[in-house]
Amino acid sequence: MRAILLCLLPLSALAQTPGYTDTPKIPGTDWCVHDSRRPHPKVVDPGPAPEKPVPAPADAKILFDGTNLDAWVGKDDKTPWQIVDGAMVIAPKTGDLRTREEFGSCELHIEWASPEKVVGDGQGRGNSGIFLMNQYELQVLDSYNNVTYADGQAASLYGVQPPLVNACRPPGQWQTYDIKFEAPVFKDGKVEQPARITVKHNGILVQDRSEYQGSSTHKKVSVYNPHPDKLPLRIQDHGNPVRFRNIWIRPL
Ligand code: MG
Repeated sequence: MRAILLCLLPLSALAQTPGYTDTPKIPGTDWCVHDSRRPHPKVVDPGPAPEKPVPAPADAKILFDGTNLDAWVGKDDKTPWQIVDGAMVIAPKTGDLRTREEFGSCELHIEWASPEKVVGDGQGRGNSGIFLMNQYELQVLDSYNNVTYADGQAASLYGVQPPLVNACRPPGQWQTYDIKFEAPVFKDGKVEQPARITVKHNGILVQDRSEYQGSSTHKKVSVYNPHPDKLPLRIQDHGNPVRFRNIWIRPL
């Protein structure tokens, strides 16, 4: 009996959901940051990907239309990501890209696809992120049959709030984020109104005016650092060649 138990122990350890139980508690919730015990949102099939990108509205500012990276800049004023078949592709380990222009509250449309060839698991599979105002991450991750902690899966407010459902399409397929972002308001060096985000993932509501608790961070409680009313939009290079297309923004 003891021998059987000894054999089972390592197996049960392997089967654990990824995440942590020793991180600080997220204020206002029962969970700690990246809690492995936090329930995972139910999986919803969003239907097939549209064959072509949906055209931007007439008054939108085009951030990427498949032809050039003029609106973007990276480390050392370089733009090392590539354009392949009309998609902007992360060149892994070259650093994040940010917009040259700065934005506050906005409506944002962005399409992304995780690498078709599945490599890695958990946070190592198709990881990127959309950082509103260079601070507030909406997670991009291949969350199709890929378990990670709930507050780190695709369409989560990283480290704070899982999506209402998991609406991920399979790797390689195009997915959409339709975002309304409400910039935080600071007064006397303190946050008066938190940043809020509403998100549709592949047309399905996954965040409904969800509140950020501060600048996104890993394994820690996020806190607000007062910042200007407008800052660049940033896309994360987390070492995976995630693709993007059809990025447009409407400042609000
Ligand atoms: Mg990320």
